[in-house]
Amino acid sequence: MKKKVTGGFSLSPPLKALKQKLEIQQSQVAIFEPNMVFIPLSQHIGAPAQPIVQPGDYVKQGQVIGESDAFVSAKVHASVSGKVLDITEWPNQNNETTQTIVIENDFTYDNDFLSTPFHWEETANDVIKQKIQQAGIAGKGGATFPTHVKFAIDETKKIDTLVLNGAECEPFLSSDALLMEQKAEQIIEGARIARKLLHDPVIIIGIEDDKPLAIAAMKKATAPYSFIQIEVLPTVYPTGGEKQLVEVLLDREVPLGKLTADIGVILMNVATSFAITEAVCWNKPLINRYTTVTGDVQHPQVIQSPIGTLAGELIDFAGGFQGAPSKVILGGPMMGRTVTTLRVPTTKGSNGVLVFNEDNDWLFTENPCIRCNKCVEACPMRLMPLSIDQYFRAGDYDKCDELLAEACISCGACTFVCPARRNLAATITDAKNKVIALKKEAMQHA
Ligand code: SF4
Ligand code: SF4
Repeated sequence: MKKKVTGGFSLSPPLKALKQKLEIQQSQVAIFEPNMVFIPLSQHIGAPAQPIVQPGDYVKQGQVIGESDAFVSAKVHASVSGKVLDITEWPNQNNETTQTIVIENDFTYDNDFLSTPFHWEETANDVIKQKIQQAGIAGKGGATFPTHVKFAIDETKKIDTLVLNGAECEPFLSSDALLMEQKAEQIIEGARIARKLLHDPVIIIGIEDDKPLAIAAMKKATAPYSFIQIEVLPTVYPTGGEKQLVEVLLDREVPLGKLTADIGVILMNVATSFAITEAVCWNKPLINRYTTVTGDVQHPQVIQSPIGTLAGELIDFAGGFQGAPSKVILGGPMMGRTVTTLRVPTTKGSNGVLVFNEDNDWLFTENPCIRCNKCVEACPMRLMPLSIDQYFRAGDYDKCDELLAEACISCGACTFVCPARRNLAATITDAKNKVIALKKEAMQHA
């Protein structure tokens, strides 16, 4: 490891209490099979898919049910086999609605997956890339960027390092840690496939030091490969952020407005790597995922379920609410979204469902800033969250621009450390979006 992460935070006593509340103790993944799935046609960055099935159609598990002509988009597949009941507007995690395909699960899981693995080693890269695109894989670390786009890089750009992100993107979630413990070999196979597509860069895997079982499993799986290196990272949030991980592992800075590929690095989450193996070796698209269901539920656990499972059903499967529920967050505690209905379905990027009851309302009540500077110290992008927050709330967007709001990566570290519990990450993300929108507008009128 080259460097310490800039900003961020490790767990101080009050955060340790929160960790205790949210951390999953068990090392098994429970499997939930819902009666119906609600599959949104827009689940990732890029163009939404259009439905290619009709109500009444029978679909196999893994069949394409939505697609788009746009390159930056990902196909959408049936996560169970059964009858298409409806195509309708349905609530999503942004508290809006999305066109959604409703399928009744017939529990036969009828599919066309391969029964013996496809040998990719001698296969042309274009064929492998096509398999990845066909599988609709979108980054599973939260950003949900269509994965095939990552491999369509300009051939003049030399990629010297593939970084595999095993640092959970959100603190207190366990989905990636359990995946590494249980599917290490498949994750490494996915990384080797990606390495072939990128013309043999070295592979560095970053895993936080609070995941000893995951580290052990991954070390065992990487032992035969001299081009793969594992780096154990201190558990400091947000080490799992793309730019932070590159800085920590390689001591390289990603310039503002540039991609990691511009400095010779491609990053992939471990779950994305696993999905690549499933797609390339078994023709299995991205239709299931591990989701951490925790907080004030009776039995916090990591659940494997088909994409399109309702948040409310996952909470019921985890034993239901503990106390009177006050807040349900889809995603993690830092970057997740509070949802207003339990009828929101999981998507390719859903890594967690967090429940807080009324006893924890104090966690979310805003107070005036006390100028302690903790948000500044925590910001991995070296921003001034307190000032951007203040200017944004006052409507002074020029000042937000001067203070580089545009560089915010929405990691949530500032919100998390703020003793006044100010909702900094949300306002600074809004400030960033406003600055970008105003600049676009100005360019159109120039
Ligand atoms: S959310 Fe933005 S402002 Fe806040 S710590 Fe993260 S990068 Fe900095
Ligand atoms: S951490 Fe909160 S209270 Fe402290 S300076 Fe930042 S906004 Fe103000």
